[in-house]
Amino acid sequence: MNFENTLPFAQQEDSFDELSGFREKFHFPIINDKRVLYFTGNSLGLAPKSAKNYVNAEMDEWAKWGVEGHFEAKNPWVSYHEILTPASAELVGANESEVVCMNSLTTNLHLLFVSFYRPTKQRYKIISEAKMFPSDRYLLETQVKHHGFDPDEAIIEVSPRDGEHLIREEDILATIDEHKGELALVFFGGVNYFTGQLFDMKKLTQAAHDVGALAGFDLAHAVGNIPVKLHDWNVDFAAWCTYKYLNSSAGNVGGIFVHDKHGDNTALPRFGGWWGHNKERRFLMENTFEPMTGAEGWQLSNVPIMGMAVLKSSLDIFQEAGIENLREKSVKLTAYLEFVFNDIVDKFPDIQLEIITPKDPEKRGCQLSVKLIGTDKSFFKALTNAGVIADFREPDVVRLAPTPLYNSFEDIYQLGQTLETLLTGWQ
Ligand SMILES: *Cc1c(COP(=O)(O)O)cnc(C)c1O
Repeated sequence: MNFENTLPFAQQEDSFDELSGFREKFHFPIINDKRVLYFTGNSLGLAPKSAKNYVNAEMDEWAKWGVEGHFEAKNPWVSYHEILTPASAELVGANESEVVCMNSLTTNLHLLFVSFYRPTKQRYKIISEAKMFPSDRYLLETQVKHHGFDPDEAIIEVSPRDGEHLIREEDILATIDEHKGELALVFFGGVNYFTGQLFDMKKLTQAAHDVGALAGFDLAHAVGNIPVKLHDWNVDFAAWCTYKYLNSSAGNVGGIFVHDKHGDNTALPRFGGWWGHNKERRFLMENTFEPMTGAEGWQLSNVPIMGMAVLKSSLDIFQEAGIENLREKSVKLTAYLEFVFNDIVDKFPDIQLEIITPKDPEKRGCQLSVKLIGTDKSFFKALTNAGVIADFREPDVVRLAPTPLYNSFEDIYQLGQTLETLLTGWQ
């Protein structure tokens, strides 16, 4: 691809882009009368303009029906979660029986660990990536302790080699092999939140299975970002949040995947609640828990309709755009971001650009994690003040996630212009 760091080039790319119209389906924050350059879809997606209508519709149903809305609403609340399933299944490459939206991410992972982390004296270790998202790390630590094991012994982290930022796949595979007799679970982020490194979930799952362990993934930074094929990859379980790339609003419900090979096994240990109970008999209020087959059998509670209405508005947009189309645009958009950053920083001999995200598009999603060596945190503040919403992670990494749904090539060109102005005035 021959990129140019010019406004006409960026505008021409936008005019060729068949997905460019989706941008208008979202609200962009306005700061100082200017639409911000928004690059934090990896943290909190933008608000779909249609979301209000979806929520208002349910408010109207509530006003009209009161409790009867559970059965009488246009989308009856008793089964509202089911209308989220087709689009969710499509996004993660699953059968509809394998996914359900419920609870939130960390909660869901704990529930899934109840079923899929069943350590024995012999097999109790979990292999994961070093520098996980803290909540995932706390999950591992407390799960291991809950079963009476020592986290220092039971959690095996695979780290980047000295002087490197990324984890080598060969090192993960070697670690799995090294602990094979004691391994219960391989648990990774599909895309690492810090570096943006995309792991080969198919290969890691295969390697886990080869040694008699299970494989689970946290897809917080993968879902809606890259196409995922959980069923075909034979992944045992996964969970994700929906407020990042899926634009469902802060703290909204998450999603889970349980492979059919486990979902059909209602004898699997789990924590139960009435929403996971045989739905034909749910309202008979009987004593003995009889889990539904499929992912729905992990549900606990009746569902938050208003939040799910927002999620539905966003999933409808995803279905219209198509995750494969989005990915195709995303690869190009991120490559353009990389090009523009290099082009600008090259003009400043005192500043060095280090992009820690993999260079290979097959090994990353849309996010680039960038170090601007020679600047400091106050430079990031200046960037924010100039209308760029990105995200700073200690000690010195700026994460930028151009999302194909609502970012444009021109956004990236304008980011470059802002960067150049600020670096020119820097010190
Ligand atoms: C965003 C994120 C979380 C947040 O967890 P919640 O339970 O939704 O608060 C957890 N893990 C990862 C990897 C994340 O990226």
